[in-house]
Amino acid sequence: MLLTENRCRGLTEVLLKTVRRAVLLASLCLLLATVAAGQGFDEYTLATFLGNQELQQFGAVEGTEANTIGESVFFDLTASLSSSYGAKPYKLTILGDLEPNADSVGGGQVFVNAGMVPILGGNRGLWAAALGHELSHDLLRHPYQTWVLLLREHQTEVALAQAQNRATSAAQVILLALARNGNRWLDLKIRRDQESQADRLGMVIMARAGYNPDFALALNRVLTQELGDRTRYEAFFGTHPRWATRALRELKEYDEAEAEFSRLWPDASQSPGGTPPPVAIIKSLHSSQDKPSRSLVLTAEIEAHNIDPSALVVFATFQDHGRAVRSESKENSVNGQLVGIGTLRQQTGRPRVFRWEATVPASALSGGHRKLRTLVGAGFNNSGQPEVLDLSTPVEVHFPRK
Ligand SMILES: [Zn+2]
Repeated sequence: MLLTENRCRGLTEVLLKTVRRAVLLASLCLLLATVAAGQGFDEYTLATFLGNQELQQFGAVEGTEANTIGESVFFDLTASLSSSYGAKPYKLTILGDLEPNADSVGGGQVFVNAGMVPILGGNRGLWAAALGHELSHDLLRHPYQTWVLLLREHQTEVALAQAQNRATSAAQVILLALARNGNRWLDLKIRRDQESQADRLGMVIMARAGYNPDFALALNRVLTQELGDRTRYEAFFGTHPRWATRALRELKEYDEAEAEFSRLWPDASQSPGGTPPPVAIIKSLHSSQDKPSRSLVLTAEIEAHNIDPSALVVFATFQDHGRAVRSESKENSVNGQLVGIGTLRQQTGRPRVFRWEATVPASALSGGHRKLRTLVGAGFNNSGQPEVLDLSTPVEVHFPRK
C-alpha cells in the first residue's frame, strides 16, 4: 500500500478498515478450510480471492484517460520486470474506491483507487512511482506474507483469548495480554519494514524502466500536500512521526536508483518519464542563540535535485500561539510578518546538499513573547513566485532578550 499506518488514519477509517479486514479474514479462514483438503493455498489463490473481493465491493473503472496512461506506464514497468525476473500475469485495475490509495494483492495484480487518479493526473512519472512501489510489494511477495501474518495473528489471538479465560491468576492474565500485544506490535514492525523495502525497490524498478527516481520523491510530496492538513496538525502536537521521515528514508535509497537511471538514460529528457521534477527536502533543522548579537540563529541542511542553486529558496516563518508574528525590522519582514531569509552555501563535495543559515535579531520581534514556533519552507523561485517543495514541522525556538 502507498499509505501506511503513518498516513491517512482517522479513527473512522481505522474502524472501517478493521471491520473490513475482519470480514475478509473470516471469509479467508473459510476459503482455507475448503482448500485445506489437498488443493493447496498459494499466492495466486490468495490474489484471486482478494482481487475478487475488491472488485465486488468497488467495481472497476474502465475506458478513461487514466486507464490509458496507467496501463501504458504499467506496461513499461512490467516489461522491464519480466526481462529481469521472468514473466507473470501482470494486471492493473483502477478500482471505484474513492480513498486515495493503491494496493497490490499479489499474483501480479495491482489496484489503483479512483481517489488516487486526480493526484497522479497525467504525470507518467508519478504513475510510475505509485506502480513501481506496488509492483515491488508483488515481487517481494508481501501481500502473501501479510495475509499469512494476519491469519497467524488471528489464530494466536483466539488461542491466547481462550487461555486467558482459563487463567487461574491475575499474573497469568497479564502475561497473556502482554503476549497478545507483543504479537501485534511485531507484525506492525514487519509491515513497516515491508514499506521501506517497497520504497527502495520501487525506485530501482522505475529507474530501469526509464522513470527518474525523483518522481518517487515528488509523489511523496504530492501525497503530503494532498492529505497534509490533518497530518501537519498531528505533527504539530508531536503525536505522529514526521511526514518527511519517509522522504528522508527514500533519500538514503535514492542514490543507487539514480545511478542506475543515469547509466541507462544519460539524457533524461529522452526517457519514458521525461525530465525529472524539482525536489527539495529539509534534512535537518536546528536553532541556537547568538547572545552577543542578541539574535536567534537557524540552520538547516537542504537537499535539492533538479533546481538551479541560484533559484533555491529557503525561509522561516514564526508563530506565537498559532498567530503569525509581526516584524519591527525591514530586513526580516514580508508583508509586515517576521521571517528569516538567510543564506545558502553549497556543501563541498556534495553538489546537491546546501547549508542554510538565518540570523534573526530579537529586536525584530514586535511583541514581548520570546518563545515562538518556527516553520521552515524550502523550494524554488518560479518566475518571482516561490514554490514550496518541503515544509518542516513547527519547531519551538527561544529568542534571546532584546
Ligand atoms: Zn506499500
